[in-house]
Amino acid sequence: NLEERLTVGSRDEIGALAEAINDLARDLQHIRDTRQEFFANISHELRTPITYMEGYANVVREGLYETEEERQQFLGIIQQEARKLNVMIHDLFELSKMEEGKIDLTPERLDIAGLVSDCVQKAQLKARGKQLLLVQEMNSPLPDVQGDSLRLEQVMTNLLDNAIRYTEAGEIKVSVVPVNGFVEIAVQDTGIGIPGDELPYIFERFYRVEKSRSREYGGTGLGLAIARKLAELHGGELLVWSRPGTGTRFTLRLPAADT
Ligand code: ADP
Repeated sequence: NLEERLTVGSRDEIGALAEAINDLARDLQHIRDTRQEFFANISHELRTPITYMEGYANVVREGLYETEEERQQFLGIIQQEARKLNVMIHDLFELSKMEEGKIDLTPERLDIAGLVSDCVQKAQLKARGKQLLLVQEMNSPLPDVQGDSLRLEQVMTNLLDNAIRYTEAGEIKVSVVPVNGFVEIAVQDTGIGIPGDELPYIFERFYRVEKSRSREYGGTGLGLAIARKLAELHGGELLVWSRPGTGTRFTLRLPAADT
């Protein structure tokens, strides 16, 4: 029973041992609590799309729609929620593999500027769709980076998607600069920003700022957890700066490859 504590009565080795066992019990209890919270979280997140799907399937079956257009719209929601569920399960699986060190990176020497340009290019269509300016600043010459190109593209795409998703007007600026032994890739937006007291949590799985609001924007709440993990697996880090109403900047720091 983890609730029971050993009484530390002496200052000798037995006392130290009792202390160590108490610490261990406390850690185990903490792991138990977080596991429980973790599964409660997952169940809730997976259940939400299912609830939508059930609800709208019922509406369509019972003929509770007014026009054919409305029927199509409801079917569209079902399809969309099914897709979301699929993405969520895929992302969760990826994340758990990463956390257990069970994903294999395929590192190679990369021209990071080229990789970033490609990602920016691909994001242009989405940015234009919201009438946002997406610009890129390069600071040459840049050192190469040792990394897995697909995974780094995944991180960049996530940061760019978020910047576009959480920005209503203005511009998104992507810069790549060398900083002693590292390359820093920054994605800066002029979007809604993130309140200071929520910043520490945004890399946690499923965490969303003002949850209901973010749900309208779509997304699974897993992107940043995966992105940070991938940055760490590359020996780098993912940092954030933000001010509500001003915008947000994510900085991906990656170690430069040996010259
Ligand atoms: P989601 O799929 O919800 O976007 P992420 O893990 O990518 O999940 O991001 C977690 C939360 O962080 C988002 O729900 C959003 O509230 C906040 N966030 C991420 N990027 C930005 C940004 N560029 N501007 C404002 N808020 C952001």
